[in-house]
Amino acid sequence: MTTETALPRWDLETVFPSPVSGEYLAALVQYKTKLEQLRAMYDEFGIGLSDGSHPQTDADVVISATNEVTAIANLLDNYLYCWTSTDSNDAEAASAFGELEMVHAGFHALTPRLTTWLATLDATAPGAGPVLRDHAYPAKRARIGAQHVMSAELEELAAALQTTGGAAWVRLRDESDAGLVTTIVDEGETRTISVTELESWLSSPDRERRRLAAKAQEAAREQAAPTFATTLNAIKGEALTLARRRSWDSPLDWSLYISAIDREVLQAMFAAAETVHTDLHTYLKAKARHLGIADFSHFDLGAPISDQAPVLTWDACAEITQKVLSGFSPRMKRVVETALNSRWVDVEPRDGKVGGGYCANIKGYGSRILINFVPAFPTVQVLAHELGHAFHNDCLSSRTELQTDTPMTLAETASMFAQRLVEDAVLAEADAEQKLVALDQILGEAVGLVLDLHARFNFELELFERRSNKTISAADLTDLMASKQRIAYGDGLIPDGVQKFQWVQKPHYYDTEVHFYNYPYLFGFLFALGLLRIYRDEGEGFVERYESLLSRTGMATAADLAAEFGINIRDTAFWQGSVSMIKDDVQAFLALVDHPAD
Ligand SMILES: [Zn+2]
Repeated sequence: MTTETALPRWDLETVFPSPVSGEYLAALVQYKTKLEQLRAMYDEFGIGLSDGSHPQTDADVVISATNEVTAIANLLDNYLYCWTSTDSNDAEAASAFGELEMVHAGFHALTPRLTTWLATLDATAPGAGPVLRDHAYPAKRARIGAQHVMSAELEELAAALQTTGGAAWVRLRDESDAGLVTTIVDEGETRTISVTELESWLSSPDRERRRLAAKAQEAAREQAAPTFATTLNAIKGEALTLARRRSWDSPLDWSLYISAIDREVLQAMFAAAETVHTDLHTYLKAKARHLGIADFSHFDLGAPISDQAPVLTWDACAEITQKVLSGFSPRMKRVVETALNSRWVDVEPRDGKVGGGYCANIKGYGSRILINFVPAFPTVQVLAHELGHAFHNDCLSSRTELQTDTPMTLAETASMFAQRLVEDAVLAEADAEQKLVALDQILGEAVGLVLDLHARFNFELELFERRSNKTISAADLTDLMASKQRIAYGDGLIPDGVQKFQWVQKPHYYDTEVHFYNYPYLFGFLFALGLLRIYRDEGEGFVERYESLLSRTGMATAADLAAEFGINIRDTAFWQGSVSMIKDDVQAFLALVDHPAD
């Protein structure tokens, strides 16, 4: 690897020295004590209990105490999450996490009670205190949420049964997934390899290697499919039961409430996104042509478009990203500088560290960004993306925990926005070859966000429909996945080239708290592109309004926040604007592939 300096690791010790340190343990004790006090307060004032609220309840005191406990819970949770995801071999940390999760379960059990109680409050009433007035949105939102809460007793039972129900199925799924191995012939030698390890083969320039990896993964997933089918049937069956008992018309309506959007928004967004499907098929066919592949398949999606992709050191990746983002606003400049200079970023891939990238908000100690360095353009994209999250966290820093509660739809706005800002700057300065590489990366992601998510959403929609009458076999799930992918990918992939075992692979289908863990990504992507168009038109004047929007992502619905920018997200026209940027990318890609000499 061509790096002059060692790849940086983040600093978590400024938070606590370690998960077994006296400092961490003291904070855990504090969390448990405060949680007990909060529960006692809820009981004393009858918060969310059927006999109604205590007349002497001081809403400001209850809200503040709830915020305080949430803050400690999030701090410990994010700290341990970061710690264990860079060292999954640390058994003491894993056990600390297990203990923390048990304490959390007690806290989560209070959430429905909080919702029921918040719904009874009027933040605009003359007697409302300052804290309640600042939490008008959570109270307003709770009025809908409270219509979908079972009795306190039943909610408590449902929460208790989670450990042996949904959560147990998720554990089985994760353990089965982590244990998936297969045999493969690698350089003449037959060896056993984990399915996850084969993932990196899918971006190999050698097509035979990609094909081998995909076939081996498929064989392992096919063999394990019955276990995954039983798991998925259980999780989706439980979701249907809970949705019914909580008076949701469907799990989709439940999910839309969590996402703070409605069906009209969803329909407008998908309608616009569908108009770019054929353009993305054209991109895939052009890539296939360029690589000389006649039967383009899902394992070719990640094939490098060029063998002359520029090699980038970490320092180069950091420099490009910092330069572009710092030009956006003084706040962004400060966040990026601090992140890079104060060791917020963990860059070095190593044994025991999870793949991919994420950004965690360790309030009071800044954000922490995990990425896995590769000496190429994707590192720039991921770094820009995660710094966008860190910037969003900074915008939220003056808000309380209840005000910070951002739906997934809005959680990806700042990240996608920052990523595209940097991508555009790179494209503007790139030569033809670099541009081809960058556009292929950008469009590859668009394929994932538009085509693949279309298939995933429609798969889940039909999965719930069918599951409401009976269980579904592994073979039927596989057929269903294949059919939804064929619709989404059109003639961009050959019919047999779809990834029919994706329902085994993606953990998102198995989440017990969030169903339809797919369309929020598309929302984040297209909403960010739409905002970027406004930024290009308005320039400087945009920045302050944008930072204000990011600071209130837990204080209004997506539609209301968008309306302040004159955007109607229930209108397809807004989404069409975002989609037109993808169409332009496809045209630019075609020009490079079909007329390389121009
Ligand atoms: Zn993100």
